[in-house]
Amino acid sequence: MRIVLVGPPGAGKGTQATRLAEKLRIPHISTGDLFRANISQQTELGKLAKSYMDAGNLVPDEVTIAMAKDRMQQPDAENGFLLDGFPRNVSQAEALDELLQGESMKLDAVLDLEVPEDEVVKRIAGRRICRNDSSHVFHVTYKPAAKEGVCDVCGGELYQRDDDSEDTVRKRLEVYHTQTEPIIDYYKTQGLVTTIPALGSVDEVTTRALEALKGGSDGA
Ligand code: AMP
Repeated sequence: MRIVLVGPPGAGKGTQATRLAEKLRIPHISTGDLFRANISQQTELGKLAKSYMDAGNLVPDEVTIAMAKDRMQQPDAENGFLLDGFPRNVSQAEALDELLQGESMKLDAVLDLEVPEDEVVKRIAGRRICRNDSSHVFHVTYKPAAKEGVCDVCGGELYQRDDDSEDTVRKRLEVYHTQTEPIIDYYKTQGLVTTIPALGSVDEVTTRALEALKGGSDGA
């Protein structure tokens, strides 16, 4: 299956993507994680991306699309993938369609994780992530680590993402509304979108997402 996960920052895309990809046995491709890996390896791409990310802006399409394409063309993605954080604007969605059409492939579903804005801010402000593995995510109130600052899973150091500060979060939300939300309409015209309420427990949201994938899109 080829799936796109859309939703505002803090909707739980990363958490759900990790779980869904595991269940569906397809790779989880997160452009945010790919950029963060480049930043920690201090590559040229990482240096470029960091300036945009810290300001809450999108990294330019040219480099983002090239990086995503390269990842999607790795052998493990031959039979499907779950995209988290890509595409993030209509030009990226068009580039993805072109890439897939060139290989006689298409997307199977777009899951739109919906969460109220005040909840988003609360979730992001308390979010802490493991330096060893970004799929190990905690929250100071909703999911505190047993020992403050230490990952329960692997003992890694927990940190707050540079772009999770309140000002940057506001900017990221604005970018989401103006640039990313239009891709939901873009995919609705292709009948691919199912909206998933992303409130409730992590398990509940995963169950809703899996149900949606079984039943196909609601065409809404
Ligand atoms: P995420 O981890 O998905 O929240 O992404 C963190 C940041 O990485 C975003 O705020 C952007 O600055 C950058 N980023 C991630 N994916 C993309 C994308 N598809 N296009 C442009 N910038 C991106």
